[in-house]
Amino acid sequence: MEEKKKKLDEICKKVAVCRKCDLYKNATKSVPGEGDPDSQLMFIGEGPGFNEDQQGRPFVGQAGKLLEKLLASIGIERKSVFIANIVKHRPPENRDPLPEEIEACCEYLDEQIETIDPRIIVTLGRFSLNKFLPGEFISKTHGKARFVDFGSKRRIVIPMYHPAAALRSQMLMSQLAEDFKKILELMVGKKVQPGDETDKQENQLSLIN
Ligand code: URA
Repeated sequence: MEEKKKKLDEICKKVAVCRKCDLYKNATKSVPGEGDPDSQLMFIGEGPGFNEDQQGRPFVGQAGKLLEKLLASIGIERKSVFIANIVKHRPPENRDPLPEEIEACCEYLDEQIETIDPRIIVTLGRFSLNKFLPGEFISKTHGKARFVDFGSKRRIVIPMYHPAAALRSQMLMSQLAEDFKKILELMVGKKVQPGDETDKQENQLSLIN
């Protein structure tokens, strides 16, 4: 725990002085991410918005409130997971992060993943999804757990809609709430194993009782 915390603090310090892309120029604070360094569950969003930029903490606005509510609905406290973003400084006017900004920032997220070593990664939104599953569409893959080889390990990645998108659509809200229940199934150790041959090809997990 102490060792992990030290490493994560070092990453925060690097992020705070990062000049690898221009996002820092318009940002108030960097938003490296926060949470339990030992969590087996990591959430990865897109990038800081207005409130996150002001406070230097991820998911503290409306989308963050929803994320906390969804976590509570499956009995998980925010402080027991780790929450990070694809980019660590706020894109101006909340625009989408550019490919070169994502590329410039990815070493920090990669180091966080390597350090925390989560068993399960929940991607929130398409930018986070496409980091692990390039070219895939969230409408098709949301709620489906996959094995993904990432860094030194094979991890479970479960794509979800972004909470901000769910705040704009009741349909996505229901979908997101349903998908969150699957996190619990993965967490409580309902066995996960590769499915039949077709599933194996798609590297998809099946959940069995
Ligand atoms: N949206 C994100 O993707 N990340 C945050 O931290 C806040 C809102």
